[in-house]
Amino acid sequence: MSSRISRRMFLKSGLAAAAGVAAGAVPGSRALAAGDDGGYLATLIDIRKCIGCEACVQACRETNAAKFPEPRKPFPKMYPSRVKVSDWSERREVTDRLTPYNWLFIQHAAVKLNGEDTELTIPRRCMHCVNPPCVKLCPWGSAKQLENGISWIDADICLGGSKCKNVCPWDIPQRQTGVGLYLDLLPSLAGNGVMYKCDRCRDRIARGERPACIDACPEEVQSIGPRQDIIAQAHAIAQEIRGYIYGECENGGTGTIYVSPVPFEELNRAITRSDGAPHLQPVADAMADANNLAAAMAAAPVAGIAAAALRALKGRRRGGPADKGKAPGDA
Ligand code: SF4
Ligand code: SF4
Ligand code: SF4
Repeated sequence: MSSRISRRMFLKSGLAAAAGVAAGAVPGSRALAAGDDGGYLATLIDIRKCIGCEACVQACRETNAAKFPEPRKPFPKMYPSRVKVSDWSERREVTDRLTPYNWLFIQHAAVKLNGEDTELTIPRRCMHCVNPPCVKLCPWGSAKQLENGISWIDADICLGGSKCKNVCPWDIPQRQTGVGLYLDLLPSLAGNGVMYKCDRCRDRIARGERPACIDACPEEVQSIGPRQDIIAQAHAIAQEIRGYIYGECENGGTGTIYVSPVPFEELNRAITRSDGAPHLQPVADAMADANNLAAAMAAAPVAGIAAAALRALKGRRRGGPADKGKAPGDA
């Protein structure tokens, strides 16, 4: 298929995205099953083509700058003190890992390819899981999934409790302290900021445009389209190069499909791993666990009530002095 998604497809996805927002696609809403097209988007990342230039990283930072946090300082003292401060506001320039100000980074893997030493570079960000535990298990309904498969975190109602990060198989979301509703709600007792991650440029997609990181790439490493087409494309490449696929089955299937000429076990051994630098291991379906499903069902009504209460509170403070210092992306 074409590496460029058609405008018609994007508009269809954009409308679906808008519908998802309007419907408030919160935990408890219908799961988007793998293979259920209906505008469900996925990206293909062909690792062979990436030259590690980081044009995609810069494009992501520029495009999403208005959504980045502007924290109020000094930070409130948290009780219990085990809720750690996470402050990246003085280190916004960091690009070698995920942070609240850097939603995409390039991982490096020194490996052997056809018997020769080589370095492969791998763009890393949210996988946009088909059945995302971050969305299903967020107790406040702040993590949401659109009909087109995009998962995103609503900075208006996120309290920064890190549940999304704790249940994410790749620990993707990153917290910034000193921003968001917790400052007005329970500054010493609840959450500790707002969680941030790639939202697959949902605003651009709603306008019929491709994500900024895809447009900026000089090597056309990424393509985007219906998930079933992206998977077919990945298999065709893998067959041609005798390569390997990651993301088709991980965590029950994701909206990010990698193709590599080197086994992912080898890549996983070669990459540097740390907080903010996710692994490339096989991942079982987190939401297949009956306890998780039960927890999700229990959380859904709480999330709805909490979201409504928080929206009301947000409405009351809008325009007041408390608005000073809020993240520029907040409504
Ligand atoms: S990779 Fe993590 S943050 Fe992204 S959708 Fe999946 S569970 Fe959520
Ligand atoms: S899709 Fe958008 S938000 Fe996500 S990594 Fe690419 S540029 Fe950044
Ligand atoms: S812009 Fe393209 S080639 Fe450059 S690092 Fe990003 S994905 Fe790789």
